[in-house]
Amino acid sequence: MRIELLPSTFDDEGVATLEQRLTCFLIDDCVAVDAGSIAIALDSQQRNKVRDIIVTHPHMDHIASLPIFIDDLYPLLQQPMRIHATQEVIQLLERDVFNWNVYPRFSDLKNDYGPVMEYVPIPVGRSFSVAHLTVVAVPVNHIVPTVGLIVSDGTTSVALSSDSADTGAFCKLVNEVKHLDALLIETSFPNRMAKLAEVSRHFTPASLNDELKKLTHNGMDIMAVHLKPTYRAEIIQQLDELQIPNLTVMEPGKIYNW
Ligand SMILES: [Zn+2]
Ligand SMILES: [Zn+2]
Repeated sequence: MRIELLPSTFDDEGVATLEQRLTCFLIDDCVAVDAGSIAIALDSQQRNKVRDIIVTHPHMDHIASLPIFIDDLYPLLQQPMRIHATQEVIQLLERDVFNWNVYPRFSDLKNDYGPVMEYVPIPVGRSFSVAHLTVVAVPVNHIVPTVGLIVSDGTTSVALSSDSADTGAFCKLVNEVKHLDALLIETSFPNRMAKLAEVSRHFTPASLNDELKKLTHNGMDIMAVHLKPTYRAEIIQQLDELQIPNLTVMEPGKIYNW
């Protein structure tokens, strides 16, 4: 399984910067998990292939360029863009984003080929298919309805926490997977901001350390993601101090193969 954390910003030479401002994971060049930077960072081949987007929750950093992506492709879509999300998240997207005020209600619109956007409700706790992948989604502990995911291609399984503080259901689900290749888990704030992390339901390196102790898996790669750019260096230093084997910070723009 090939996973890229899409870049959100680029330097003067056009090279992806290390800061992660938006969230969008591209899996096997065709399935996106969240869509923060989807309209910014895909190459033309990927733009032609991505027709399935899993939206874990409706926060702006996870959906910022989703409306623009569909707008860009509007006349070209020969099949609808499928938005996989829980019923609650679908309702929030319709109410707050695709509401004719912030952006057009694409779910009501057609081009020459047919509908341009279609919602596919996620059955929480049960496996479902997205392109060639099998996915299981369970609620995580965030300030809005949010799901964490296990994504499998039959050989490889990767867990994605989305935005979350300490969880029960997600840890349980992760522990139930027979073989886990990688865990992509958020670490948004440094330890000194534990209060803000708590009210906004995010991890710090210290609370991440506690969470990882709940896991029964050994040896999988642990990729820290969603580091707030302003505190990136401080978070990385505190993650290093944990001395957890296989824990690294995921780099935007780099291709990871599991
Ligand atoms: Zn969030
Ligand atoms: Zn976020």
